[in-house]
Amino acid sequence: MSKKPSPQAEITSLRELIERYNHRYYVLDDPEVPDAEYDRVFRALQELERQHPDLITLDSPTQRVGGAPLSAFEEVKHRLPMLSLDNALSAESMADFDRRVRERLKLDGEVGYAAEPKLDGLAISIRYEDGVLVQAATRGDGTRGENVTQNVKTIKSVPLRLKGKGWPPVLEVRGEIFMPKAGFAKLNARQRAQGDKEFANPRNAAAGSLRQLDSKITASRPLAMFCYGLGEVEGHDMGDTHSGNMALLEGWGLPISPELKVMVGLEACTAYYTDIAERRDALAYDIDGVVFKVDRVADQQALGYVSRAPRWAIAYKFPAQEEITVVEAVEFQVGRTGAVTPVARLTPVFVGGATVSNATLHNMDEIARKDVRVGDTVFVRRAGDVIPEVVSVVLDRRPHKTKPVMMPTHCPVCGSDVIKPEGEAVARCSGGLYCAAQRKEAIKHFASRRAMDIEGLGDKLVEQLVDREMVDDLADLYELSVEQFAGLDRMAEKSAQNLIDALAKSRETTLPRFLFALGILGIGETMAANIANALGTLDAVMSLRLTDLVELKQSQAKRLREVLEEHADRKTPIAEVIVPLPGLKWFTHTHALLLAERFESVGDVLQADADALANTPSVKIEGVGDVLAEKLVTFFKQSHNREVIDRLVKQGIHWPAIEVAEAQDQPLNGKTFVLTGTLSEPRDAVKARLIALGAKVSGSVSKKTDYVVAGEAAGSKLTKAQDLGVAVLDETGLGKLLDSLK
Ligand code: NAD
Repeated sequence: MSKKPSPQAEITSLRELIERYNHRYYVLDDPEVPDAEYDRVFRALQELERQHPDLITLDSPTQRVGGAPLSAFEEVKHRLPMLSLDNALSAESMADFDRRVRERLKLDGEVGYAAEPKLDGLAISIRYEDGVLVQAATRGDGTRGENVTQNVKTIKSVPLRLKGKGWPPVLEVRGEIFMPKAGFAKLNARQRAQGDKEFANPRNAAAGSLRQLDSKITASRPLAMFCYGLGEVEGHDMGDTHSGNMALLEGWGLPISPELKVMVGLEACTAYYTDIAERRDALAYDIDGVVFKVDRVADQQALGYVSRAPRWAIAYKFPAQEEITVVEAVEFQVGRTGAVTPVARLTPVFVGGATVSNATLHNMDEIARKDVRVGDTVFVRRAGDVIPEVVSVVLDRRPHKTKPVMMPTHCPVCGSDVIKPEGEAVARCSGGLYCAAQRKEAIKHFASRRAMDIEGLGDKLVEQLVDREMVDDLADLYELSVEQFAGLDRMAEKSAQNLIDALAKSRETTLPRFLFALGILGIGETMAANIANALGTLDAVMSLRLTDLVELKQSQAKRLREVLEEHADRKTPIAEVIVPLPGLKWFTHTHALLLAERFESVGDVLQADADALANTPSVKIEGVGDVLAEKLVTFFKQSHNREVIDRLVKQGIHWPAIEVAEAQDQPLNGKTFVLTGTLSEPRDAVKARLIALGAKVSGSVSKKTDYVVAGEAAGSKLTKAQDLGVAVLDETGLGKLLDSLK
């Protein structure tokens, strides 16, 4: 058996560990462990030192503040030390703090505290002489900080010169430099795009940005500052209260927290803490608690300091949002659309107010970027309602012989191939509704409140229905009997009947809901409504073709012909044309399918001229671009989807008719226009106006063309129109025609 280490040995090893964490956190701005873990180690050391006061040394981390300044910066000596804060992690320790303050001050009544959120950034001292910013320094180890004047000057909210009058000739303010959440997200997105390391949290991002040797980099980072205290003040007395002094600073143009308030007594402080905790997620910046400071300056002076913190202030911290734990396994979940998502199974850990045992890993790119492996110790973050996520790996704790996580080649549920289209982050199971996981999710979605709204058909029931092979597709749902439902776990006759009633009720729906319920990839509620409203009937939706929706401009058609001439074999079926074609980035799979609706082979395409190749869509559905158009058309082309829809309709699913502005009623219905030459407004605008009136706008002139609108410098199309005897309008003529329709 190993002997328990001596207190001295234990203290030494804890100090070493804390020094190591301090270096990573304060000097490198790249913490090795989450704050919660650091705080545990720190408290363990404090406790041991409390039991063995003789072992306390002046250089113990418990007696000091922060980390040594980075030698790259000039050193600044703080004339008044920059201290840390004592923490309260529970209501009791907050109450203890208040009690100690009252005892020390020998007060019977309640104490007034200046309260404000504890910003998660880094402390700064800014010195103004005769109203001009002369120096800014980090806290460093509390007595010596780094000179970061040039960098602080780039922060827009920090005034270079104080406003108004009455400021002391020497005024050193203390405050926190921080990075608002939105700026942090943008900065990390930029770091990611450039392949640079991301920052673990806004605090590290703020510290890393401020401690740049090149102030141009600092200037490009979204930093902000709030003042929360005073340092050296000379030549003028300041006010009697902390809150009053903060108001003075504000008057001189220095930013202070808009949340600063004076709370009298413990109860008011607790209410303030609760209120800020509730609003935490909505604040524009990260905070990790609330700071309470005895408001009367005379009382502060009477209370004084202990080694590293004032006795008159406390940081009442929120429960940690970051913790560490171990990845026990990485599993793959299959969603409704077949997306295969890696999920980390974790050793359960209490974080952000809940026990977390799973965390999303998003996709393989994300796993590769973070290099998360089974067995790894990881940072887990759970903030507000956001799904818990693995932030990063503690590489120093990686066990031997770990392997990178691989995407399975086959679906873990149905065994079908897993496919990851080039350029997409998401891999999908190709099993479609054959895959039980996708079937379950498809049925859950179909039954959900915003879709068919089948009350009582919850997730657990759906899982049973699929697992017992009672439901293969959506239409099967409506064919089940009371007896069949009653045979399921946790279902009685009564609830089975309720479910049958709910199914009956769901038959009366709307077309947008029905389209949404089908769960077509990319078709959300809004899009489903746009489609239903544009087309009016299910038949119209089901008979959509890509030629109705996707445009191939004449210039594109021309270029396509040239490339096909050069690169493709004439016999190649058009749907198999290599995508992307060399030199034609815009030519996508959708375009290949679009042409395949009209031509069989490359040879057929080449026989048509560019005019005939060009394609003007006849239907405009808001929000439906090429990609969605393809998904929509493909979905309704598949025979099993058509069959299921057929059966659903036969089982009585119906909806009220939708009135579409009938094309027949539109004044230019059936008329084909060609626009050519330079018009006085963009061609697309004229085109949109014509289409809105029911016209077709084509790229090429033929006998079927009704009007050619010729702007300035019109060329071959005008000649062709004249040759074919097609009516030609100039812009004035078009204007008159449109006026006559009103
Ligand atoms: P602290 O962050 O707990 O509190 C003191 C600091 O709070 C002040 O210096 C000031 O910068 C800041 N502050 C923010 N808002 C304030 C306000 N309104 N009024 C006054 N001060 C305000 O203490 P610390 O000494 O800066 O750092 C210790 C903490 O840092 C630890 O508890 C730990 O959470 C974290 N840390 C983590 C690691 C790690 O490895 N993860 C390492 C070192 C330190």
